[in-house]
Amino acid sequence: MIQDIKNKFDNSYYKVLPRDNSYVLSFEKDKCMIKTDGKNIYIPRYAEIVNNKKLELRYLFSIDNTYYFLSENSIEPFTDYDYEDISVLRNSVNKEMCFAAETAFHLYNWYRKNKFCGACGVKIKHRDDERVLFCPSCGNTVYPCISPAIIVGVVSSDRILMTKYAGRDYKKYALIAGFCEVGETAEDTVRREVMEEVGIKIKNIKYYKSQPWGFNSNMLFGFFAELDGNGSITIDKNELSEAKWVKRSEMNFIEDDGVSLTREMIGLFKNNKVNFS
Ligand SMILES: [Zn+2]
Repeated sequence: MIQDIKNKFDNSYYKVLPRDNSYVLSFEKDKCMIKTDGKNIYIPRYAEIVNNKKLELRYLFSIDNTYYFLSENSIEPFTDYDYEDISVLRNSVNKEMCFAAETAFHLYNWYRKNKFCGACGVKIKHRDDERVLFCPSCGNTVYPCISPAIIVGVVSSDRILMTKYAGRDYKKYALIAGFCEVGETAEDTVRREVMEEVGIKIKNIKYYKSQPWGFNSNMLFGFFAELDGNGSITIDKNELSEAKWVKRSEMNFIEDDGVSLTREMIGLFKNNKVNFS
């Protein structure tokens, strides 16, 4: 998956200046300024925008010792660079660029939504030795916000429960997913979401793997579980447009895109690599 870049990603906060080869991410709501040739995406380098008068940069992280910065003001499109919907990132052949941009998008949203103290309303300040915001008036500190959520592959012998979301841009088949609520464990969330979305009971909940998912500011926890009892589906039409049992032999339409945990988990089941023993 896209975050699997081993030791190359360093998200420690440093007080550093941009270099000519540093990448600069600029966003406008759900759009990211990139250049694309249909296969790869390209993020502008500092050397390309250094003359921009409005440039105010905040250090984000490094990948393979190359720095990534966030532009505090959105940069005007130039030459072949333009604002594209962040969903375009998922199609990039260069998965490292996709990971960098979606992780920057996560931080962009956190900075964007925390301009003022949530407790007393005073303008928030940035610590320069750590990635944390603080209120000079009441002392409130704000760390980057990560929303935990689960994905679960519900299995019944040679079938897996596949769904399509209602009212979202993502139209492909997915697995049951949902946000963790306050006071519940990730396993509780798995049981609750499956019951709410399709009305079935599950057993043998088994943790698989996690994935940071900056597109939605999530940390995703992937699980597999087995159907417990009757597999007849009662679909929650507010959440899903479709939910059905799909046999392994009928999963030829599924391909692992190398990006998402959902696709990897579907691929695992398709290749008969999920077992509960
Ligand atoms: Zn305050």
